[in-house]
Amino acid sequence: MFEIVFISLFGLVFGSFLNVVIYRVPLEQSVVTPRSSCPNCGNLIKWYQNIPIVSYIALKGKCANCGIKIPIQYPLVEFMTAMLFVAIYFKNGIDLNYIFLVLLFSLLLALSMIDLKYLAVPDSINLLAFLVSIFVTQNYLENITNALIMAGFFTMLRFYVSFALKKEAMGEGDITIGGIMGAVLGVELSFAALFISALIALPFSVINKQIPYIPFLTSALLITYLFDETILNIINKIYG
Ligand SMILES: [Zn+2]
Repeated sequence: MFEIVFISLFGLVFGSFLNVVIYRVPLEQSVVTPRSSCPNCGNLIKWYQNIPIVSYIALKGKCANCGIKIPIQYPLVEFMTAMLFVAIYFKNGIDLNYIFLVLLFSLLLALSMIDLKYLAVPDSINLLAFLVSIFVTQNYLENITNALIMAGFFTMLRFYVSFALKKEAMGEGDITIGGIMGAVLGVELSFAALFISALIALPFSVINKQIPYIPFLTSALLITYLFDETILNIINKIYG
């Protein structure tokens, strides 16, 4: 029980840092300096106004100085990061792999939030996530092989879809996420994850023509990673 509380708190703090990454990296600003300030009035945010979730509630979601609304994204990302840290703990336990796994899924969360906002993702986070994904288990050669197979598959898929639609389809970012899927899940489960991502995206793509696809790919990747045995059982039932 103590472990879970500790991991959640660590996740909250890391989520707070992810918010800085999500805000600053697309603007090509440093994630280290300067200290956080209100984008509206420039007021420096004091340490006690920067406590994950607690401060958002205490400040009633407004800047303490000018009263402008703080986006709900901030406590949401903090909460999701904490959940991520706990879920991966239940799946994997604490070891070296855990560190790479939480780092990877945190980067994927940041990429998803950025893709939602800009419909594009920065290569810096994208390429870092790809690199981290190779280290999520100690079978590095196998992970690289699977990553390159899936990155290759996504590249060809993009080629074919773009040819069929007569316009550039899918982003380069999707290819990297495909590779990450391969490294974390292996080839067979990657295809399951791709299928799941399409299922989740379907209702949204009916409503909105241009949807960011990375949030769906990474959600499907997380679901498939956490429930791999169940999903493999279903695949085996279908294909006997
Ligand atoms: Zn302000």
